[in-house]
Amino acid sequence: MRLKSPAKINLYLKVLKKRKDGYHQIKTLFERIGLFDEVLLKKRKDSRVRILCNHPEVPTDSANLMYKAADLLRKDFKNKSSGLDISLKKRIPVAAGLGGGSSNAASVLLGLNKFWKLRLSRVKLKSYAAKIGSDVPFFVSESSFAIGTGRGDKIKNLPISRVLWHILVVPHNKLSTKEIYSSLNLRLTKNEDNVNMLVRALNNFDLSRLKDYIANDLEASAFRKLPKLLYIKKKLQELGVGVFCLSGSGPAIFGILKSRKEAEKTARSIKSQDLQVFVVRTH
Ligand code: ATP
Repeated sequence: MRLKSPAKINLYLKVLKKRKDGYHQIKTLFERIGLFDEVLLKKRKDSRVRILCNHPEVPTDSANLMYKAADLLRKDFKNKSSGLDISLKKRIPVAAGLGGGSSNAASVLLGLNKFWKLRLSRVKLKSYAAKIGSDVPFFVSESSFAIGTGRGDKIKNLPISRVLWHILVVPHNKLSTKEIYSSLNLRLTKNEDNVNMLVRALNNFDLSRLKDYIANDLEASAFRKLPKLLYIKKKLQELGVGVFCLSGSGPAIFGILKSRKEAEKTARSIKSQDLQVFVVRTH
């Protein structure tokens, strides 16, 4: 079984407070984008779950989130002898704030539900997803836009029918989500929550309003760790991109453009050796 595993960006990320369990309470607006990894599920004759991947930095042992997804379902619904080869073709930059690993895990949950004919409801699949990671339930929801609350794992789908065109600029440096959250100064983040205004601006595709409401509380922390991000933002501004922001804990930065043509033009101007640049749309 062949599965397409999409990336996400966060159009909004508000950190509300630190919880007793060490996680942060957040409010985020996810957008699913058309940048895909490919996941292939294949039955094995023996009982092993084996991960194969073309990317050297992706773990192929039990630390891979796809392994966790398969193992959870196998323990509850199949006997341990159901072996599986999971092959992953990585195209989504790793540890970039684009949710690649989480998406791969969601693809395995959704795929195995069919491959093993488990007939699990979406609610049930989402509860497995939340055990794997905070961003996994969004990908299990299979919606283009959604609000995430709690750790980002409580998902409310948004009926937004707009398709947005983006430029994605990703430096080769990696940023660890854990480190970015731990160097965050919550006293310096604003209290106002503008997510409803952002949803309205998205529905109207009002670029000047989008500029006002798109925000990410993790930016200051990520920019301190990687000053190159400031240069990318400045460059986008110079090229006339009005709306841009960090996705998740970075280092990916996305911009919103009026059309595919404009996104491609900007991409050609910003391309350089130390940056990966993609033109993507809402998926
Ligand atoms: P997060 O915000 O959850 O850290 P991210 O989008 O910034 O996510 P990912 O590409 O998901 O980053 O990778 C984060 C780390 O997760 C990687 O450094 C890698 O060690 C580990 N990982 C586990 N499973 C996978 C997977 N299937 N694909 C990529 N990375 C994975």
